[in-house]
Amino acid sequence: MNGTPTAPDDGDTIAERVARLSLAVRDHLEGRPRSVPRAVYRFREYRVEADGEPDAEPVTFTMSCAVCGASGPAEADTSTAARWIPVHLKQEPEHLTYREQITRPYRAVPGSWL
Ligand SMILES: [Zn+2]
Repeated sequence: MNGTPTAPDDGDTIAERVARLSLAVRDHLEGRPRSVPRAVYRFREYRVEADGEPDAEPVTFTMSCAVCGASGPAEADTSTAARWIPVHLKQEPEHLTYREQITRPYRAVPGSWL
């Protein structure tokens, strides 16, 4: 090392990078065009809705213990999912609070181009 800081990625010294960025800032402020990659963006409306399509993922219900975070299996309805609670309670008699987690698939439906 000779005391000149070096950027870790491209091998340029900090002084070289500062000089290059200073030129870019000056060109920008003076309105000079630079060779910048251009892109064209189009915007589109989307409607977000619960996914009721035949191939949608199923709605599932899962109970989890709010004390230790353990979870029962994902089930098709609440009452089936709740059967896990007494099983867990038998193993952990101090764990008295639970959460129901509902997983419901949603989809974004493409609309018109703006
Ligand atoms: Zn628990």
